[in-house]
Amino acid sequence: MRTVPMTTRACEIYDRRIAGRSLKPGCGCEHYDGKTCGSVLLFVNVDGRPTTPAGLRRHMQRAGEKVDLDVTGGYELRHGYATRAVEGGADVLLVQRKMGHADLEELAGYVQETEASNAQLLAALGEQQSLKAVGSRGTTRGTDLGNQPLPDAAEGDVTNAG
Ligand SMILES: [Zn+2]
Repeated sequence: MRTVPMTTRACEIYDRRIAGRSLKPGCGCEHYDGKTCGSVLLFVNVDGRPTTPAGLRRHMQRAGEKVDLDVTGGYELRHGYATRAVEGGADVLLVQRKMGHADLEELAGYVQETEASNAQLLAALGEQQSLKAVGSRGTTRGTDLGNQPLPDAAEGDVTNAG
């Protein structure tokens, strides 16, 4: 059995999805090993039966459309999980085990190269990254006078000193 740690946000979603449901009867699905199950299904349809792969894919596609992502199925979530874990500095051997991959080569097929991962690589090599302005200056940044640009700040990108 493989266990995967869940973020606080994922735990909140889990708690919300199982709220009010009985956990005693198990999943109700026939298991390959014939053993009785004590787990509850997270993704069920309105009848309480397991969500079909096609149904789950439709839900994921709709969720992706809401955030302008082209989602075709659950594998994008696995790619995102692996990419974010590695970007965040997780031990790649641990990520490999959590993904259930036989070797690092299999994991490598899941981890995507992103701007953040390239920045992390450059930082590991001692490269100073320039900071990018993320919004316009002046009163549009808010009324908090402590959140205004320094009077002598130059226009354009601000770079790290040192
Ligand atoms: Zn089960």
